[in-house]
Amino acid sequence: METARADIREAVMTAFCAVLRDTRLPPLALIELAAAAVGSVYREVADAHCGDQPCPCGWHPRLQADLEALQTTLALSAAPTPQVDLARMVVLGRA
Ligand SMILES: [Zn+2]
Repeated sequence: METARADIREAVMTAFCAVLRDTRLPPLALIELAAAAVGSVYREVADAHCGDQPCPCGWHPRLQADLEALQTTLALSAAPTPQVDLARMVVLGRA
């Protein structure tokens, strides 16, 4: 789980830094695009678990509960804490 968390975070940060460098769009606009990407990935994966031939893994999307969980995770992750890895962020930000 921690490796997955780190891998996904690094992919998002790398994309964020590349688009920031290439477009000069405001940082929050890019973070909103990242949030939109997460939402659209959720929709696509959820759709693959509904319908006539759903994925057999057993996950059943529950939009309201799932959105609440995603919003909670977003809020907790964005809140200032001493555990935020600022050193890593600065390094990637200069890439
Ligand atoms: Zn599945």
